[in-house]
Amino acid sequence: MKIAVFSTKPYDQRFLEAANAQVGGGKHQFSFFEPRLGAQTANLAQNHDAVCAFVNDVLDRETLQILSASGTNFVAMRCAGFDKVDLRAARELNIGVARVPAYSPYAVAEHAVALLLALNRKIPRANSRVREGNFALEGLLGFDLHGKTVGVVGTGKIGLCFVKIMLGFGCRVVCYDPFPSPALDELDVELIGLNELLAQSDIVSLHCPLSPDTHHLISNQTLGAMKRGAFLINTSRGGLIDTRAAIDALKSGQLGALGIDVYEDEANLFFEDRSQEILTDDVFGRLLSFQNVLVTGHQAFFTREALENIATTTLRNLNEWEESRGGSNLVTE
Ligand code: NAD
Repeated sequence: MKIAVFSTKPYDQRFLEAANAQVGGGKHQFSFFEPRLGAQTANLAQNHDAVCAFVNDVLDRETLQILSASGTNFVAMRCAGFDKVDLRAARELNIGVARVPAYSPYAVAEHAVALLLALNRKIPRANSRVREGNFALEGLLGFDLHGKTVGVVGTGKIGLCFVKIMLGFGCRVVCYDPFPSPALDELDVELIGLNELLAQSDIVSLHCPLSPDTHHLISNQTLGAMKRGAFLINTSRGGLIDTRAAIDALKSGQLGALGIDVYEDEANLFFEDRSQEILTDDVFGRLLSFQNVLVTGHQAFFTREALENIATTTLRNLNEWEESRGGSNLVTE
C-alpha cells in the first residue's frame, strides 16, 4: 500500500521504516510529510491508499472528503485517541479508521507519576537552585505521598497502571469510572462517585478519554468540589480541563498544584521548536507564570518501547486492511 504519513518527526520515520521491514515485509511504501493533516494539507496524500496520522491531525468531514476524492480509503492513527476524527463522515465515505489502542500504558502512567513527584518535591526549582550554587531548602518543602488519598478518574489501561504505582507508594486509592476495569476487584481500591472522589483526594489524576461528556470535566464547579490545595495531574487530553477555571483556582489557592502533559489549545504549540517565536497564547503564558504548575509538551507516550509498539501495531493495522478490509483495531462511531 502507498501511505502518506503526516506530522512526521525523524523518530516516526525511523520506527515506521523499521516496523515496515519487520512486520510489513518491506511491502508498504511510505511518503513522509512534516505538516499536520487537515483540509489545507490533505492534497499531499493524492494517490495514496492510506494516511497515517497523529494526535493533533484534524480529520474532519472536509479533510476526509478531500482524501476520499483522491483515492484514500484508510486512516491509520498512530495513537490511541481518535477525538479529532469525524467517524460518521469516515463511515459515509467508506474510509476505514484504525488506531493503536495500547502501546505502553506504563509510559503514560509513569509520566503522570513523574509530574506528581516533580511538583511535590519541587525538582525543577531545586535543580535550578543547585546549578546556581544555592543550596537553601526554604521553599522546597513537599509532603509524603505515603498515606495520602489519590483519586483516579478513568480506570482503563493507563489508569490501572497508575493505580498500581500509587498503591506501591502506600497511598489510599479511590477511583471513579462509569465502566470500571474488572481488574480493580483484585486491588485494594474504592470505587466512588466523582464528587466524593474530588472531595476526598489530595491528588487527582485524569485518565479518561476526551468526549462531549468529559469536555471540561474539570470546571469552576468541580474545582470548587476539590479539597483545598489538592494537586491535579492530567496526562490524558487537554480538553478535560477548563484552563481558565484552573488558573482562577491556582490564583485563589484552591488548586495546590497542576501538572499537565496536555493542554486544550496545544495543537498550535506542541511538537515544534517555538523557542524563537513570541508566545501569543496568553492563557498558556499565564499557566507558565505559576511556580506550582509543571507543563510537558505531550511527551507522556514518548518511550522507546511505546514507539516500537506504535509502529508495529500501525503496520499490522495496514496489513489487515490490505488483506481483508478489516482489522481488530478498527474504530467505529
Ligand atoms: P482506556 O480506553 O483503556 O481507558 C479509559 C477509561 O476511561 C475507561 O475505563 C472508561 O470507562 C473511562 N471513562 C470513560 N468516560 C469516563 C468518565 N466520564 N469518567 C471517568 N472515566 C471514564 O484508555 P487508556 O489507554 O487508559 O487512555 C486514557 C487516555 O489517555 C486516552 O483517552 C488518551 O486521551 C490519553 N493518552 C495520553 C497520552 C499522552 O502521551 N499524554 C498517550 C496515550 C493516551
